[in-house]
This record gives sequence, C-alpha cells and structure tokens, in this order.
Amino acid sequence: MKVGVLALQGAFREQREVFAALGCEAFEVRSARDLAATDALVLPGGESTAIAHLLRTGDLLDPLKERIEAGVPVLATCAGLIISAREVVGGLKGQVGLDILDVTVKRNAYGNQQQSFEAPIDISISPDPFPGVFIRAPVIERVGDDIEVLGAHDGSPVLVRAGKVWASTFHPELSGDLRIHQAFIQSASE
Ligand code: GLN
Repeated sequence: MKVGVLALQGAFREQREVFAALGCEAFEVRSARDLAATDALVLPGGESTAIAHLLRTGDLLDPLKERIEAGVPVLATCAGLIISAREVVGGLKGQVGLDILDVTVKRNAYGNQQQSFEAPIDISISPDPFPGVFIRAPVIERVGDDIEVLGAHDGSPVLVRAGKVWASTFHPELSGDLRIHQAFIQSASE
C-alpha cells in the first residue's frame, strides 16, 4: 500500500516511519502531483493554523479534498483532525479546512495546565486500552450522524471514524503502539 503523508508541517516524519515499519510504501506529500500516487493519506498532527495556511498558499486544499472525495482512505491525527472537521472552534479567522468529517472540534481545548498529557483510552477495535498521547489536543464537541465513535476520554470522542476517514485527537504514532495504524491499514485495504 502506498501511503502519502501530508508533509507541510508537524509530525509527518513519525507517521511515515510507522507506516514504513508496518510494510507500507510511505512517502511525503507536498504537491498535487505527489497525491496522484496515494492509496491512503495521512494528515498528521502539528499546528493546524500553519498547515491550513500552507494548504491554501500551496494550492493543495482542493486537490487534497478531491482525492479524498474520490475514496482514498484517510488517517487524520490532532491538527489533521482539525483540518478535516466541518466546524472549528477557536480557529484563525478565515482558516481553511477540508470539511471531510462531520464534527465540531475545539482547538487547544484542555487549557493551559493540561495542554499535554497521556491517558489510557478504551478503544472498540481492541480489547486492551490504548496509550493516548495528547499534545495541545482539541476536543470533539459534536459528532454528526454518520460518525462512529471508536474511543472516548472524559466523555468526549477521541477516536472516530466516518467510513474511510479515521481521526484521533491524540497522536497514535508517538505511543509506540501500532494497533490503530494496523486497524486503519486493514480497513483501507478491504
Ligand atoms: N493545538 C494544535 C492546533 O490547533 C494541534 C496540536 C497537535 O496536533 N498536537 O493545531
């Protein structure tokens, strides 16, 4: 499987390394041309305002959206989830997004003291809790009817799925636990 990792800003190298470790042909996506070769896409964590700005100025927003709407599976984490969301609370004025996931997400929602933390997350795709690494994480405040919640923390969804689009508010690529990536790859190859 050829996995393109959006590599404008953030934790793209870590995502590429995890997919490569799982036997995928993982490469970095920086242009519309790179997108053409992808069987699956990763929208990594980082800083959503920076990624959104670079998507817009690099004319990559529409090609990316078109590729995803054509049915390419997506794994979006943290800032990647913010970029994917239908509605963002606390985004910059005019911050662009892909609108591929019907959720409302609030940026930096855990506040100052708790901007980064780790917590075990019960996930429906596996019997054992997943080590959630939350870094200035957002909170999903609303999910649309087509959203499947695969994991929650403190009463809010933190791992969700809408068909071929998977998204987490935490960073599974930084936990050393590959179960979410494995489940994504499995579903993407079905
Ligand atoms: N707080 C960041 C943002 O708003 C997201 C943090 C992350 O991706 N770890 O984009």
